[in-house]
Amino acid sequence: MIRISFDVGGVITKYPSEFVAIIDALQKSKIIEVFILTDMDYQATKKILIKCGLKFKLQNILNADWEKYGERCKKVLIEKHNIHVHFDDLPSYCQSSAISLFVWPNNDIPFNTLEEKPNDKS
Ligand SMILES: [Mg+2]
Repeated sequence: MIRISFDVGGVITKYPSEFVAIIDALQKSKIIEVFILTDMDYQATKKILIKCGLKFKLQNILNADWEKYGERCKKVLIEKHNIHVHFDDLPSYCQSSAISLFVWPNNDIPFNTLEEKPNDKS
């Protein structure tokens, strides 16, 4: 079983349609287990996953503890849950035993395309 995790902020929130399609396809695989790995709190994570229409086993949502571990917070969970591949947009979160795939922070695209702008009536 290959265990793959995805960050939320700047990854799923930046490219929701692409990552939702990728994650949905991977979740159908019998040789891949998908995780959400974020430093957001559980309620905020759940809200975003619902907004994206992503369904997840609760035990596969991993919330990293920044207060306790700082920039090592995802490394701790990656090693605890034996994650093999991780997608993230923060270089310090790409330092772990996993194969880290860096999502380049393209400034032409908003960090969170799921958020409605306050004055956007369309
Ligand atoms: Mg991020």
